[in-house]
Amino acid sequence: MAFKHAIALTGGIASGKSTACNLLRLYGLRIIDADAVARDLLQREADAVGELFGPEYVSGGTVDRKALARLIFSDKEARERLEALLHPKIREEIERLSEAQDRLGGPYIVDIPLFYETGAYPIEKVIVVYAPREVQKRRLIEREGLTEEEAEARLNAQIDIEEKRRRADYLIDNSGNLKQLQRECERVFDEITGNGPFN
Ligand code: ADP
Repeated sequence: MAFKHAIALTGGIASGKSTACNLLRLYGLRIIDADAVARDLLQREADAVGELFGPEYVSGGTVDRKALARLIFSDKEARERLEALLHPKIREEIERLSEAQDRLGGPYIVDIPLFYETGAYPIEKVIVVYAPREVQKRRLIEREGLTEEEAEARLNAQIDIEEKRRRADYLIDNSGNLKQLQRECERVFDEITGNGPFN
């Protein structure tokens, strides 16, 4: 069975999942990155994306990810159609990668931004990387150069971060600065492995 030694890592958009994963990777944890899997699959499905949404979303065989993101965050039905195309394929690939990790033993992390939204992964232990909604919004605007309204639309497309926080088995609080995030990652690493990162 897949996901035997897996721990899911999730959170909200721009709550700091990628930054936390980079730190946890430095401590030696193995990470399966669902976003990277999704990006690969999106490009492999470029023809299907062109057929679903129009040729203007594909140029030279490559999906225009920014244009597609603008579309799906302003059009719920388009988002659902894209998810119906990609999620089963992403799920299948992540399961295959997790079986390889299970053979090596555990624990390992599966970074799944929409873990709670998809409900598709039978992983029992979950790390939530948390930042309050206002902090998420500010970091999202800074990272992507979005307007306030665009950032709101992306936040509204997800389960609220406070709800995810309540469901967490392990919480990485990323409300503060990067030094504080590092401490939070160390603490959770210790909880997961029963070791200090520098032992
Ligand atoms: P996610 O992967 O959850 O979408 P990221 O890890 O990309 O989020 O973080 C969102 C943005 O906020 C990035 O530009 C990142 O560099 C920045 N960031 C993350 N954590 C902090 C922090 N503690 N202080 C300041 N900036 C941060």
